[in-house]
Amino acid sequence: MRLGKRASAAPPLEPSPQALAAAEHLAHLVRIPTVTPPPGPLSEADQALFTVYREELERLYPRVFAAAEVETPGRAGLLLRVPGQFAERPVLLMAHQDVVPVPADWAAEGWEHPPFDGVISGGRVHGRGTLDDKGAMVVALEALESLLTDGWSPLRDLYLFFGGDEESHGAAAVEAVSLLEERGVEPWMVLDEGGAVATEAFPTLRRPMAVIGASEKGLMTLRLTVESLGGHASTPPRESAPGILARALVAIEDHPFPAAVHDVSIEMLEGVAPHVARPMRGLLKRAGRRRAVLARIMPRLGPELAAMVRTTAAITQLEGSPAQNVLATRATAVINVRVAVGSSCDEAVEHLRGAIDDPRVAIDVVEASEPSPVSPTGDDARWRALGAAIGESYPDAVTVPYIMLAASDARHVARISPAVYRFSPLAMDKAQREAIHGPNENVEISALGAGVTFYRALLTGDALGPSDPARSRD
Ligand SMILES: [Zn+2]
Repeated sequence: MRLGKRASAAPPLEPSPQALAAAEHLAHLVRIPTVTPPPGPLSEADQALFTVYREELERLYPRVFAAAEVETPGRAGLLLRVPGQFAERPVLLMAHQDVVPVPADWAAEGWEHPPFDGVISGGRVHGRGTLDDKGAMVVALEALESLLTDGWSPLRDLYLFFGGDEESHGAAAVEAVSLLEERGVEPWMVLDEGGAVATEAFPTLRRPMAVIGASEKGLMTLRLTVESLGGHASTPPRESAPGILARALVAIEDHPFPAAVHDVSIEMLEGVAPHVARPMRGLLKRAGRRRAVLARIMPRLGPELAAMVRTTAAITQLEGSPAQNVLATRATAVINVRVAVGSSCDEAVEHLRGAIDDPRVAIDVVEASEPSPVSPTGDDARWRALGAAIGESYPDAVTVPYIMLAASDARHVARISPAVYRFSPLAMDKAQREAIHGPNENVEISALGAGVTFYRALLTGDALGPSDPARSRD
């Protein structure tokens, strides 16, 4: 870290008691290995695991669970409603209890601490789920528990939803959304995982960047299939099924989707502009008038920036012959497509069909969800509420919107809410961001403290209701 004059003068801050409590609670929850259950009904073992997890939440956050009506939609989902004085303009906070698995030989993957031991050391909590997404769940619950302890109550209905299978389609979230929809609940604002307070996030930007997902890309799984006659490997045809498929795959990689810079990305670039070094500052300040140039440059600056400006297609699974001396009668490839906001699943399929340009390659859509609507930013009261809460918790951070590249449970909620934001109030450097779904996932204790501050500020801010408990009972 580079120390400026200000930074070197201040001694390192001791974590607050609130941050330490959050760290202890998070470590405890990490030790319950709530790995995303396989599709289908929950096994007894998984049922037991998620029950233990829920009981521990109830034990750690007694005031929250005492104040809330609790339901369990879907597989291990948890839906809480903390009633406010008004049912209108409810707020929905989301996180997920499940985590991605770790390999049996996690030590070989490079984990420094056992992934489910919840080790606290070096000012951090280590383990699977510390960032994705138990950390975010813990700071929201800590904030609410502490506010309720202070005698605060929400002015407007507050919903919390914790998915049990976010990492595989989020069926529980779909059920929870249907439940809310049946009851006519239209959250005024939804906050789920997605962005973070990212350091080392943008070239030459020295400040942390609080990136809030205002939309997310669409997600589509395609299967390409080529059929052929097969036969013995000693007499191969001139063109085999795998050969035809391979040419199609090369064609996909040779024909990237057209690049276009979305308005949300322009707002992000113009937002960071004042804080980056010259000459980039000048270019980004006028990002709105430089769309064509940016669309050409950004794909060359790395896969993340490339994915921001276009639909992407990743070849993930391949299958050919089942035996080493048998010709394949069928060759298949699975393509994972992330559809740019502003485009559509149909448009993506058409592009790929054109790139492959071979009728022998069948394209089947296995699943498709369109890009999410764009939530309001700029002067919108909800956007300003998020910015104000970030100002309280991470005063140095530059807050900007972005289009989330990965998919989250939030995409299921867009149907019932006009303002869905994707953001965890946790500081993450580059290594931490890369550790999500990988080895050595960890969160700083100080980030947990800031996360609690964020949620307290958000829940008591002007947009959501007064902070004075006496006033809230008027
Ligand atoms: Zn997650």
